[in-house]
Amino acid sequence: MELHSTSSPELEDDRTEELRERLDAVRARIDRAVALVGRRERPELIVVTKFFPAEDVLRLLHLGVTDVGENRDQEASAKADAVDRLIAAHTAAHPDLPLAPPRWHFIGQLQSNKARSVLRYASSVHSVDRSSLLKALRRAAAGSAESQEAGAPAAGRAREVDCLIQVDLRTEIPSDARGGARPEQIAQLADSVQAAEGLRLAGLMAVAPLDEPPGPAFARLAELSAELRTVHPEAVMVSAGMSNDLEEAVAHGATHLRIGRDVLGNRPAPR
Ligand SMILES: *Cc1c(COP(=O)(O)O)cnc(C)c1O
Repeated sequence: MELHSTSSPELEDDRTEELRERLDAVRARIDRAVALVGRRERPELIVVTKFFPAEDVLRLLHLGVTDVGENRDQEASAKADAVDRLIAAHTAAHPDLPLAPPRWHFIGQLQSNKARSVLRYASSVHSVDRSSLLKALRRAAAGSAESQEAGAPAAGRAREVDCLIQVDLRTEIPSDARGGARPEQIAQLADSVQAAEGLRLAGLMAVAPLDEPPGPAFARLAELSAELRTVHPEAVMVSAGMSNDLEEAVAHGATHLRIGRDVLGNRPAPR
């Protein structure tokens, strides 16, 4: 997306310049990776803003970013509210330079009791990995549909929540594993998402295993995605690739990259 030729002066500070340079470098890496494997479509960039303030999200919107990712509900819900307030203030000051709110992607492990809170701001949940969570999401989606019908503010959030099934790509999965379904559980979870009102089956998500090379792991993810699409052709999203392995993810067909550090810099120490 192109920048406006005129831009609000308060969004043009040193931090914005730093983010612009980092974002340009990441976009150039993505372009090179796409060209290298001769892909026709460029994957979408989700900028992971965890640990960084709402002001940085506003700078990113100003720089043309449309999608942001967060991995903890407490932080994300406060930040989504803060971004809404910053956008409203910005719009009041610059009615000619509108900023659209981002799509918020929830990408972290999710406790069932946080499902309702997450659906207040998130347009997609990348970390659906068990049926108990799915049940909570389904209940929360049904609840928010009712309150929208009753006239409660929907704040422009999508009514149907995109759900991605997170897959554990390790070759040896311990029995007490968390943070990813086993490949053999995908089909059943996918059917349940499909059947749930208010939820839309969007695809698969994975994080490369720590102690295995990312390439073969992402190749397995691509196979699992192809298998899923034989039954659910609409489930085309493949969310894979972070700062360290985006090239491998692009090579293996990722449609959505989740990049934090290389756009925002090293994460600040927890406050
Ligand atoms: C933090 C995070 C990312 C981004 O990782 P970087 O190394 O900062 O690019 C991507 N996916 C998930 C699930 C994350 O938690």
